[in-house]
Amino acid sequence: MRTAIISDIHANLAALQTVLAHIDEQSVDRIICLGDIVGYGPDPVECVDLVAKRCEWSLMGNHDFGVLYEPTNFNAAAEQAAYWTRAQFERDRTSQPDAAMRRWEFLGRLRVRVNHEGFLCVHGTPRRPINEYLFPEDATNSPVKMQQVFDRIERHCLVGHTHVPGIFTDEPDFYPPDELGAVYTLSVEEKAIVNPGSVGQPRDLDPRASYAIIDAPSEEPGRVEFYRLEYDVKSTVDKILAIPQLSDWLGERLYEGR
Ligand code: ZN
Repeated sequence: MRTAIISDIHANLAALQTVLAHIDEQSVDRIICLGDIVGYGPDPVECVDLVAKRCEWSLMGNHDFGVLYEPTNFNAAAEQAAYWTRAQFERDRTSQPDAAMRRWEFLGRLRVRVNHEGFLCVHGTPRRPINEYLFPEDATNSPVKMQQVFDRIERHCLVGHTHVPGIFTDEPDFYPPDELGAVYTLSVEEKAIVNPGSVGQPRDLDPRASYAIIDAPSEEPGRVEFYRLEYDVKSTVDKILAIPQLSDWLGERLYEGR
């Protein structure tokens, strides 16, 4: 079974389309999404429709939660983007009431935690599934946090939220894809947490869209393949710059991958 893992799309349609086209060439059996379909970016409605159509399921990220309920712990730019995003979903209420209702229902049904064939899947961390970050530096700086996070995992776990791809092992250690040669073999003896990175807003100083595939033959934990793809960053940045409610900085950061 080959499962494509996408996360943190952030309403970046150009990046999502590029990733989905690449996935279509990798003979995967299904696509799952770890949340943050919307927030920050210019195409929230289109991205929700595409995830609803192409993904087997998606998790609820803090930005999906912020648009659906209320933005909490957001900086000013993120909060304003959340209110603008909500208005985009409201916009179609009179012109396309069925589509508008379907989108709200889709967002409302997103789950916070899914157990998927031996993988615990959360947007943030197993302790605080929507909002807590598991940063690469936690592996060296926060041994208690790492211990508490790994205590909640039976074997393997998938997370998003930081927008930084890589693998945490329970030594604890963190390995970016570059150090792994872009492929990592999971083992039944070792706990591991996999972050596929972000489709629409990478923050590891590499602006290319990021995702991962887990290739798991039956009865084996399998291996993780990391992918980076160039996409038309400028088209997304130009859309953000043209929307007054989206801070210019949300566009400019895409060029830098931060
Ligand atoms: Zn995110």
